[in-house]
Amino acid sequence: MSQVVVTDRLLRSWLRCRRRAWLDRHGDSRQRLWTAHRALALSDQLASFQTLLPQRPGHGEAACAAGAPGVVGLRLRGRAAGGEDLEAHPVLLERVNGASVWGSHAYRPVLGRQGRRLTREHRVLLALWGRLLAERQQAPVPEALVVAGAGRGLQRERLSLGGGLQRQLDEAIARLVSELQRQEPPPLVADRKKCVLCSWRGLCDQEAAASGHLSEVSGIGGKRRELLLQLGITSLAELAAREPDGLAEALAVHGEQHREIASQLVAQARVQASGRPERLTAGAGAGPADPLPELAGCPGVLLYDIESDPDARDDFLHGFVVVPRADDGRWRPGLAASGRYQPLLALHAHGEARLWHRLRRLLARYPDWPVLHYGETEAIALLRLAQRQGVGEEELAALRARLLDVHARLRRHWRLPVSSYGLKAVASWLGFRWSQSGVDGARCLLWWRQWRRDGGTQRLQRIFRYNRDDNLATWAVVCWMLDQGA
Ligand code: SF4
Repeated sequence: MSQVVVTDRLLRSWLRCRRRAWLDRHGDSRQRLWTAHRALALSDQLASFQTLLPQRPGHGEAACAAGAPGVVGLRLRGRAAGGEDLEAHPVLLERVNGASVWGSHAYRPVLGRQGRRLTREHRVLLALWGRLLAERQQAPVPEALVVAGAGRGLQRERLSLGGGLQRQLDEAIARLVSELQRQEPPPLVADRKKCVLCSWRGLCDQEAAASGHLSEVSGIGGKRRELLLQLGITSLAELAAREPDGLAEALAVHGEQHREIASQLVAQARVQASGRPERLTAGAGAGPADPLPELAGCPGVLLYDIESDPDARDDFLHGFVVVPRADDGRWRPGLAASGRYQPLLALHAHGEARLWHRLRRLLARYPDWPVLHYGETEAIALLRLAQRQGVGEEELAALRARLLDVHARLRRHWRLPVSSYGLKAVASWLGFRWSQSGVDGARCLLWWRQWRRDGGTQRLQRIFRYNRDDNLATWAVVCWMLDQGA
């Protein structure tokens, strides 16, 4: 293999997942999937930077020499302790007091933080930028700045780049270099929740499915996988073959909660290994075994899905599909596709009172119709909104009684051969296809932010289409459940 140049991008990838850095360097780039998370992170960072330094930053070496308050586009180079070339492009440099090769001022690196806390990834990356910048400006860089949020809510945190952090940086570079020289990629990351954000997820999902990786079993995260590995259980098939009581005893050493979950994990692995769903409640028809008794006599249902900006705590779209019962009294898969789609946008300029007024009017138009949603988000958001608007106890109780969580009913009545009980995984297993391929919540959020900034009817239409599809996917799950009871 050729001489490794350690870039800040490779280091950042490695700090997120060792395998990711290896794939960045040696993987087939055609297998990468575009992810909206990176674009969202960059737009958040830009908003923070524009608050910190409202004037446009200068570019490169000339801007540093001219003493620009902010500088982008400066390429830094250096050499690691092991002799490898280092290369970095700090996203922003901020002018600070001090003397440097550029005159009576110096610079420090700035990074926009995603998430609530500073992570090892942020610290080590800033340590690399600080070290290379110190060499370039011939003056120490004792600290870096981390910013988050924007406008009046901008948070600033100074990070000391001294002693311990420099040792961590050296160790990270040495390990990264040695792993990049391996012939095979490192294993999948232990906690595969991170993979949602990664452009290699398609490739790694295939590998996980093909190898029966334990993370494929719904309910197994990084910690439980570790415990199972310690017991010599390395794959979905091995877990499925385990005797549940014996496993419960072995896991109880690590805490009673693990004892209780053991039989569920084995049962889930067995269903996934067999590919056949398992009914957890007996029989069909009304009664405790009926997963959706509310649908027995109602004239129709409303499907309900919210699109949110979680960082801004903003539920920006409340989307409904109106599904009347068919003339012959039956529920059919095609009913939702021909049902009216009703999107209600929550614009800050209009205020929450107006949104609640519109929601209440829509709900009042279909008084005895259950409101079906997948997961608890919609119920929590709608009830909180109603409470904030001063709705009385009686109306709140009636609203609560109308809300029906399809996900909760599914989990109570079935075990499915899926690696996740999220809407995407379950509806896809049932054969449902979203009309816009490769779109997810992050992409939708990106469109929303772009629409708010620049407008564009097409973006809004795409958001509506995605939201409507989520409602139709929920309906696909409902129809499957009804079909099983027939
Ligand atoms: S998809 Fe997951 S396991 Fe694969 S490289 Fe990315 S973070 Fe690592």
